[in-house]
Amino acid sequence: MKEHIICRVYPDSIAEELEVEPGDVLVSVGGHEIKDIFDYHYYTNEEYLTVLIRKEDGEEWELEIEKEYEEDLGIEFENGLMDEYKSCHNKCIFCFIDQMPKGMRETLYFKDDDSRLSFLQGNYVTLTNLKDNDLERIVEYKLGPINISVQTTNPELRCQMLNNRFAGDALEKIDILYQAGIPMNGQIVLCKDINDKEELKRTIEDLMAYLPVMESVSVVPVGLSRYRDGLYPLKSFTMEDAKAVLETIHHYQKICFETHGLHFIHASDEWYLLAKEELPKEERYDGYLQLENGVGMLRLLREEFTQALKAAADAVDMQSANFLEVTELSKDPENTKIQGRCKMERITVATGVLAAPVLQELTEEFRRVFPQKEIQVIPIINHFFGEQITVSGLLTGQDLIAQLKGRDLGNRLLLPCNLLRSKEEVFLDDMTLSQMENTLQVEIDIVKSSGQDLVSCLMR
Ligand code: SF4
Repeated sequence: MKEHIICRVYPDSIAEELEVEPGDVLVSVGGHEIKDIFDYHYYTNEEYLTVLIRKEDGEEWELEIEKEYEEDLGIEFENGLMDEYKSCHNKCIFCFIDQMPKGMRETLYFKDDDSRLSFLQGNYVTLTNLKDNDLERIVEYKLGPINISVQTTNPELRCQMLNNRFAGDALEKIDILYQAGIPMNGQIVLCKDINDKEELKRTIEDLMAYLPVMESVSVVPVGLSRYRDGLYPLKSFTMEDAKAVLETIHHYQKICFETHGLHFIHASDEWYLLAKEELPKEERYDGYLQLENGVGMLRLLREEFTQALKAAADAVDMQSANFLEVTELSKDPENTKIQGRCKMERITVATGVLAAPVLQELTEEFRRVFPQKEIQVIPIINHFFGEQITVSGLLTGQDLIAQLKGRDLGNRLLLPCNLLRSKEEVFLDDMTLSQMENTLQVEIDIVKSSGQDLVSCLMR
């Protein structure tokens, strides 16, 4: 029987009350072997259950538990998935992992394609290694949403793009998920002259048949690094291409909204920036269903920022008992009622080339309200992966240092949190935050992802 070592017990949880401790082993729940985290959640979502625990001295405790339905026991396991991670069976022509230089952290080269990670952390899966019994469990446990890397609904083309002769047949699993009512989101990595133009239209039309169970589909441009020797020759999109892609997407958005009240098909922010077109209004994003794919991130940032800035300005108004609207303040950067209430400071914001123009606009908006803050935005070019990679999440410590060292960075340097490894103070190339602070000789503030965080960080 598979056993799972407990690494953490939450304070004030059911597990703590029952004296479960880190190092104990979960043997079974309700007499069932727990194969993975799906089983664990399924069998613990009961009001009455028994849990078999083995203590470090070998003694076995059978715990009888009465709790709320779906109430968590408050346990974390050494292996979060409670099973081996499934690697992918494809060799996609656009895979970014194949385009990474050698010598990086081992974990960055792992190609996962595990449906359980889709439910746990939102990963996109191709369904090519989803076994029938996994599919049955998804349906039986009513899990969702599952995020699917579709790329194309043309079976032959999908086999070519994924370099997997079963990739076309795997599309049939979408039908099963649809019939079972499992919520889904789709993703299309668009490759020029391969799955764009008429193929894109076909894919969108085919996927529209799954509305509203499939809630959204994103279209993202393929990421091309400078390490593509020996790989499939892929081309970059131009401004005209981006305009054509947006035209197609907007056309189908209109149809979907009229029929289902959902815009359904979404272009990632990169398309709007490449086409030099304005970002859609908030309501076009249907509640930001695909932020992790860069869909609506910049619109959300802008909305949150404007709101937080207004609140900050109102707070200053209250203090000074002067009712001045943000718009009025904006027109008058020299306004003395505000000056003196905010510390004089020079700040540098460094980010990827993609988001830099938006950051530039936002910080100018901020300065119109708080002119004491002198702010410069520096776009960092990605020399490590190549200049075509413009997102901040793929910037390395070495590129930041090379482009910031020797410049006047002012009192503080603000960096977006996606530059760092999750929950750690380490950049993609293993440089630490303190190494960077020492090298640049400036205090660094990490800005969490929201617009409020950015305003608070600038105000600090
Ligand atoms: S599914 Fe394709 S893109 Fe994803 S890791 Fe595997 S080969 Fe790479």
